[in-house]
Amino acid sequence: MKKISELSIEEIESFRDDYYNSDLTVKKVLEKHCIDCHPSSVAKELPFEVTEEFCHYCNIYLETKAKNRSDYRSGHCKGNPFICPKCDHKENIFRCNCDNCNDSLEKEKKFIFKTNQDFLNNVITFQKEKEFELESMTLKDKLIYLTFLKYLIDDDKKSFKPINKLSDIPFSSTQGYSFDLIGYILGDILRFDDKSYNIGLVIPREEQDDYKNYSYYPIKCKYVPNIDIYSEDWIIESINYCSKLDFQNESIDEVIDLWKEIASNELLEFLYHLLDKFNLDKNEEYVGDAIKESIRSITENFSVSQGYSILWYIIEKISAKKQETKMSRRYAVNMIPSYIASNLSKRISGEWQTKSYKRNYNLPQSAISLTYFNDILKIGEKGFTEKPSISILREYHIFEEEINKDVLIDEVKELYPEVGELFDLLETDFNPEMYEIVTSKDDDHNKALKVSALYSKTIDDFLIEYHKMKTGKKYQTIITEDEV
Ligand SMILES: [Zn+2]
Ligand SMILES: [Zn+2]
Repeated sequence: MKKISELSIEEIESFRDDYYNSDLTVKKVLEKHCIDCHPSSVAKELPFEVTEEFCHYCNIYLETKAKNRSDYRSGHCKGNPFICPKCDHKENIFRCNCDNCNDSLEKEKKFIFKTNQDFLNNVITFQKEKEFELESMTLKDKLIYLTFLKYLIDDDKKSFKPINKLSDIPFSSTQGYSFDLIGYILGDILRFDDKSYNIGLVIPREEQDDYKNYSYYPIKCKYVPNIDIYSEDWIIESINYCSKLDFQNESIDEVIDLWKEIASNELLEFLYHLLDKFNLDKNEEYVGDAIKESIRSITENFSVSQGYSILWYIIEKISAKKQETKMSRRYAVNMIPSYIASNLSKRISGEWQTKSYKRNYNLPQSAISLTYFNDILKIGEKGFTEKPSISILREYHIFEEEINKDVLIDEVKELYPEVGELFDLLETDFNPEMYEIVTSKDDDHNKALKVSALYSKTIDDFLIEYHKMKTGKKYQTIITEDEV
């Protein structure tokens, strides 16, 4: 009796032929060849068979384990992988774990990483060409940039955290709006950070060398200002610059339009919330441009707070109608614009009264909204409770028409001659920091005036401060007459 492993090549061939093809039982075949083996272990003991496939690493034939008799006869072909006798590479399996495959996977990963890294660097180089200046920013640029500065400065004080790192409040009221806002300033005011964090988050859409055409993850990416940061105080300087509402550069229309834009996105957020709550549209699938447009029309005459109550009323009605008539969800959601239109006309005409709702607890005010209403417009909650209009701004801001500069200058010269002297000395080039202002009067007004003068950069700035003090208005800015 021999073991299978002890057979010669000829003996193996003859045994193999009988094992697969004869009519004898396996036991009888083993007896015929005087082989010591359990019938069920024959396939395991037989030497590997050479296949017709090559190992693409070693360029030699792959081998495979011998099949057992029943698999061979049934033509059962699944199962045993093809194995390279030299490098152990396996074919016909889900993922080969041999050293060669692991190496090439590693290389491929490195290659993809390198490709993505090169692409990111090229996009950044392209973005850098457009380096911006604070003075050339639009109001919307300032708002978005200021929001980044106030909420997303990273520990290195040079870059911004990704917006999905904001934990308590959202960046803006809806994700779509956040994408739009980032897209609005990316490549101008912001560029991608060149740190490894962003590799793989910015990928070419079509061609590797088309640096304008890429897709990216807006809320995951890290950004930096598209500017060479040279001063230590750049954050403070930028915050100061962006939070100053300067009506000489921004028109009133621009200010109100941006208010409406933020307001309509807050209403959209609330609509999504209601559609989910009333089980009409869980994933914002059916809300298209027509609905968004009609939401925006609410902000022409109503505050967000009133818009909340209007939307609540409408969605409740539509939901009840859907129950009655068994209409589809999509159909129900598509009725929103006509409901809004007829609702608004009744409310504008005064036929219906409109209630005001409080901000929804589950929908906290976004960073963009906080920045605009608190830091730029400086009207706080009125951004929510009032309809977008110039009249609210008038309560908080000084419009140039209210100021007669010549009269004010004369008044200051008379009441505070020491300060007035500065004007004469300096004419247009006002730099009070060079002078110590000593005045004879010592009342509170006078103290405040001295401080204001010290911090004013121009005579205009100073006059605004002075006017503010006189009128008790809290905030400064000038709106030029032709813009009102
Ligand atoms: Zn091989
Ligand atoms: Zn392999």
